[in-house]
Amino acid sequence: MVYGALDIGGTKIAGALVDPEGRLVARAQRPTPAHEPAEALMGAVTAVLDELSAHPAWASLDRVGIACAGPVDTAAGTVSPVNIAGWRAFPLVERVRAHPRMPAGIRPALVGDAVAMTAAEHWLGAARGVDNALCMVVSTGVGGGLVLGGRLHTGPSGNAGHIGHISVDLDGEPCPCGGRGCVEGLASGTAIAARALAAGWTPPPGTAATAAAVADAARAGDATARAAYDRAAQALAAGIAATITLVELDVVVVGGGVAQAGDTLFAPLRRWLGAYAVLGFARDVPVVPAELALDAGLIGAAAAAAHAGPRPVPHAPAS
Ligand SMILES: [Zn+2]
Repeated sequence: MVYGALDIGGTKIAGALVDPEGRLVARAQRPTPAHEPAEALMGAVTAVLDELSAHPAWASLDRVGIACAGPVDTAAGTVSPVNIAGWRAFPLVERVRAHPRMPAGIRPALVGDAVAMTAAEHWLGAARGVDNALCMVVSTGVGGGLVLGGRLHTGPSGNAGHIGHISVDLDGEPCPCGGRGCVEGLASGTAIAARALAAGWTPPPGTAATAAAVADAARAGDATARAAYDRAAQALAAGIAATITLVELDVVVVGGGVAQAGDTLFAPLRRWLGAYAVLGFARDVPVVPAELALDAGLIGAAAAAAHAGPRPVPHAPAS
């Protein structure tokens, strides 16, 4: 038995056949024609499915999961990725289901990319064996997903866990989402680079002004660069503390490009959590790096498919 998995983002459309232990037994990939119309985009998805369905393991396909850049509407089966303009309320689930080689009776499970990352970390990564977790992707944006009571908690439309767009600054800057003072506006890689630049930091000649470059400078002792990470960590900590206080968590997992900064991010993050997560039950919840950077979207799509509906979930491999 294998799970079919699709991971659709602004740069690539990846697909895989995933066995019950989480191993990728076949894979296919196409660049995302991100500026093309809807049908050209679907053509790339179909090409990935064509290639996967030519693999012998396709004969034992049991379920299919789709991880897609958000927003998604899992109830309607549609996607409207911010960075893929050609798809607005695009009926991706129905179109994948209608692929000529899709076995009858399979209805693909759709999840947003951060929820997929959460499902992957819960199945095989840093949240394995834990019943209550917040998993976050901190990169150009800030996304998240929740595991509550041992199960992925997606909400009615699949958007639960949107920690990037809760407000941690009551009178803060307007956010593109329509809100104000959102975590994302303070803690994304884009925000970190912008804050460092505004405070006078400049990247080394020939280097782009990215959060990774700010992290390099912070490690080298640059106080302005350190302050930019400290502010991002403060915003993340406030959002995480609110989440812990609201639902009680066993662990918080942080992945994405900004988390690659390691202790430059995690040290101030843990320190600020000490200031915001103060009630007894909310104190000392571990905050750890994600483990599945590579293929988290595909593994998460497979995990989400496995958790959807009445069939049994995959068993975790022995550690
Ligand atoms: Zn927002």
